[in-house]
Amino acid sequence: MTTMPNWLKQRAFLTPERTAVRDRERAKTFAELYEASATWARRLAAAGVREGDIVAILMKNRIEMIEIVHALFLLGARALLQNVRLTSYELGWQLDDSGARLVIADEELAGRLGGDGRVMTTSALAALSEVDVLLKETLELDETATIMYTSGTTGTPKGVLQTYGNHWWSAVGSALNLGLHEGDCWLAAVPLFHISGLSIAMRSVIYGMPMYIQPSFDPKEANALIMNGTVTIMSVVAAMLQRMVAELGEARYPDTFRCMLLGGGPAPRPLLETCKEKGIPVYQTYGMTETSSQIVTLAPEYSLTKLGSAGKPLFPAELCIMQDGKQAAPYEAGEIVVKGPNVTKGYLHRPEATERAIRGGWFYTGDIGYVDEDGFLYVLDRRSDLIISGGENVYPAEIEAVLLSHPDVEEAGVTGIDDDTWGQVPCAFVVLKKGAAADEHGLKQFCRERLAKYKVPARIYFVDALPRNAAQKLLRRELKTLIPEAEKRASRL
Ligand code: ATP
Ligand code: MG
Repeated sequence: MTTMPNWLKQRAFLTPERTAVRDRERAKTFAELYEASATWARRLAAAGVREGDIVAILMKNRIEMIEIVHALFLLGARALLQNVRLTSYELGWQLDDSGARLVIADEELAGRLGGDGRVMTTSALAALSEVDVLLKETLELDETATIMYTSGTTGTPKGVLQTYGNHWWSAVGSALNLGLHEGDCWLAAVPLFHISGLSIAMRSVIYGMPMYIQPSFDPKEANALIMNGTVTIMSVVAAMLQRMVAELGEARYPDTFRCMLLGGGPAPRPLLETCKEKGIPVYQTYGMTETSSQIVTLAPEYSLTKLGSAGKPLFPAELCIMQDGKQAAPYEAGEIVVKGPNVTKGYLHRPEATERAIRGGWFYTGDIGYVDEDGFLYVLDRRSDLIISGGENVYPAEIEAVLLSHPDVEEAGVTGIDDDTWGQVPCAFVVLKKGAAADEHGLKQFCRERLAKYKVPARIYFVDALPRNAAQKLLRRELKTLIPEAEKRASRL
């Protein structure tokens, strides 16, 4: 078992005066961040929190959220980070599933948990008198630090155990790829309750690097922070990058901005091309809650020649593609399987799911992809969403990307429907842009020009909105439920 000094305490000892975290109004040094965290820890102890307890956090991005995470580390308790977009039912389900002892919630979010006796607002916690408690000066790398539920895109969410070691190696792996520069500052505009956001806070304390927090994503402010040199690295999902590029107009980012880390889902090719033209240093990355953030990232020197690839594994990690129990050849599609010290040890209270996912030390991601002859990963789709039509594999993401490249299409989702001849055929659900006039015939023609015949959707339904989860990810398994509504709508036209 490897032990390390508590990260925040060590950081406050090594570089106390450095800025740890900033937002629009405030800045705190590492020494101040440690003091604030220690204070929260003594109040949490007053609220009854003990070593090993699970404590949920239901907070929006703000400095206090980071302080409370560190406070729980100082007590040896585990932080369960909850998505603030979840419904009361979903939040309550996670609390019961995890057996959380307490929930620390923002004032305006506490009501969502109604009468749950475990809820305490941050102001109620702040009002407690501090009790004298021994703060842990060390941490053990194989202990669980945080728990996060997966987004629930493919099924019921699962609580992922993230150890201190997972966070440590994730931060180290990222630095070995991106480097660490004097003057670096990482913008957290993604939620801190997702691993994309929390991992920034972990890097900040491990590297001794300031982070800048946005309470919610603001493309205009993000661009301004990049333009004036405050921010040098930023984590985004495709939709955020799209808005920043639109807001940027003809302007170009200065050289101080060195990395736009793009992950969370597929990256639309037209967006990557636009960024290439505008000289935006986009690094595509692949990762998930179970890998404590990135596990595969495209290194800077390949961002142009391997456009569309998610890159190679980070230094401490390994990747392979498995097909029918064997390692696939280059360009042969199969399940993406990963290994590394940043990969979870399993799911909370789910030994069967853990055994299914982790076999022989390798984590089976449930995603499909292939590697090229140089070992670069291309992510195709989720295994559970794969459509098999007449023996051919059809990837919904590929068809969605084509539909999305049509000027009239705002959103697109593709799923398989049963077919007597082919077993399954792809079927598309489209939300049109306001005032757009594309029809089923025209869109099918557009697809025929760009896709093999068996990939062209057999039906295209027009709908008002697509089903998405709290992470805004498309729920393909629910698309079929839209058919009656879409048919009614078509018959009215
Ligand atoms: P659940 O596991 O409950 O279905 P989820 O997998 O959506 O939810 P996350 O851990 O938030 O939950 O998301 C990780 C997933 O996002 C990956 O497994 C992959 O499917 C997708 N993803 C991440 N990066 C990329 C990428 N570069 N390209 C394509 N898909 C990606
Ligand atoms: Mg998943």
